[in-house]
Amino acid sequence: VTETHDIVVIGAGGAGLAAAIEAKAAGADVIVLEKMPLAGGNTLISGAEYAASNNWLQEKEGIKDSVEQHIEDTLKGGDNINNPELVRVVAENALEGAIWLRDEVGVVWEDELMQFGGHTAKRSLVPLGASGKEIITKQLKKAKEMNIPILLNTKATVLITDTNGKVIGVEAEGEDKNYTFNTNKAVIVASGGFGSNVEMRVKYNPDIDNAILSTNTTGSTGDGIVMAENIGADLVGMEHIQTYPICDPLTGTLLYFDDARLYGHTVIVNKEGKRFVEELGRRDVMSMGIKAQTGSVCYELLDQNGFDASKLQENHGPELDYLFKNNLLVKADTLEEAAAFFEIDAKELKATVNKYNSYVKDGKDPEFNKRMLPSTVDTAPFYILKAAPAVHHTMGGIKINTNAQVINKDGKVIEGLYAAGEVTGGIHGTNRLGSNALADIIVFGRVAGQNAAK
Ligand code: ADP
Repeated sequence: VTETHDIVVIGAGGAGLAAAIEAKAAGADVIVLEKMPLAGGNTLISGAEYAASNNWLQEKEGIKDSVEQHIEDTLKGGDNINNPELVRVVAENALEGAIWLRDEVGVVWEDELMQFGGHTAKRSLVPLGASGKEIITKQLKKAKEMNIPILLNTKATVLITDTNGKVIGVEAEGEDKNYTFNTNKAVIVASGGFGSNVEMRVKYNPDIDNAILSTNTTGSTGDGIVMAENIGADLVGMEHIQTYPICDPLTGTLLYFDDARLYGHTVIVNKEGKRFVEELGRRDVMSMGIKAQTGSVCYELLDQNGFDASKLQENHGPELDYLFKNNLLVKADTLEEAAAFFEIDAKELKATVNKYNSYVKDGKDPEFNKRMLPSTVDTAPFYILKAAPAVHHTMGGIKINTNAQVINKDGKVIEGLYAAGEVTGGIHGTNRLGSNALADIIVFGRVAGQNAAK
């Protein structure tokens, strides 16, 4: 089947839908291709918190913040290898993007702000239910109202170029037919990252092999990056892959049991019953530390006091049920019994816990310098969680300029091609800060849509 449209958007996640809505609003005829049977991508399964300085809740709460501070935090979080011009576009337009989502798209924001690691101010908005479902549901509703077609189960495979290298269309595979889409104006690549593509991960970073699962949806296979590279696009920062240390060793799903660790209440050990890493260390350091242990897993120990203080039952009851049912979490009256469940060296574990408790009493951990020691681990029953690191975000990807135009290996713009969202590289440097992804994908999704429609 051959069709002609002004603009084809590849990927119906947060970035692609923002681009499609803006392009259509600017008068273009737009179609969206989504390879999965369901729209939403990683955006849908994320918490979707959204960093925006000077937002209305900061104003209400009297929190002082600035665009410059947001830029500084983001650059520092990315070890200063981020492209500062792109970071500036995100930080300067984040608030307007959040207001656009609220007023034009109908997204409901909760009445409370969050503060994520690396951000020096409480500046992150939280969508209704702290879930990307709110963002995607409202974007899809808006797209429907605007008569933007979204073809599900339709996978883009090739970017078509003319003799001058300009992008003039896309080839795609549908469920029972193949398509050639010709474009009058542009193709926008918004197909997300490559966290679920082990081969591609290892190609760019051999450490992130198949011992590491993924928190991402199965659709995050880097298709757009490969398609763009095949027509000469430059890629940046591909080796920078963010892992999250405490995930389900069976599925890779991020575990909210980890709240207990963030509050400081857990001790992490290996099968030999020994600590090996600071429990509140950087995500990457902890992840690689866990990967190096027996079975590439860790065991997180918590006592009843810590369990209660972390509100695990109230906030994450269904997850706890799942973990118990799948033998990933044990509750026992003694440390020995808990250790035996996972065949952890009980004698070593007891010695480790005794030492740890003495550090809590001294207020100082001479072994791993744990930065927060709020509680000893001595009140039965005890809980042990088995966990493993998983890929969470791929920072690298297609090189773009501040207009979301794709740049080729000679540093020149590829005409007719835009990219936005996790598929792009350079914005987050070595390490993306929590809640910066949503700001990025909405801001650059809109920029891509507006410019492509011109
Ligand atoms: P972002 O946060 O950048 O919007 P997401 O992961 O939320 O990224 O969304 C990317 C979407 O692109 C996903 O829904 C994914 O299934 C889709 N996608 C990935 N590769 C292709 C492809 N080749 N053709 C069509 N859609 C794709």
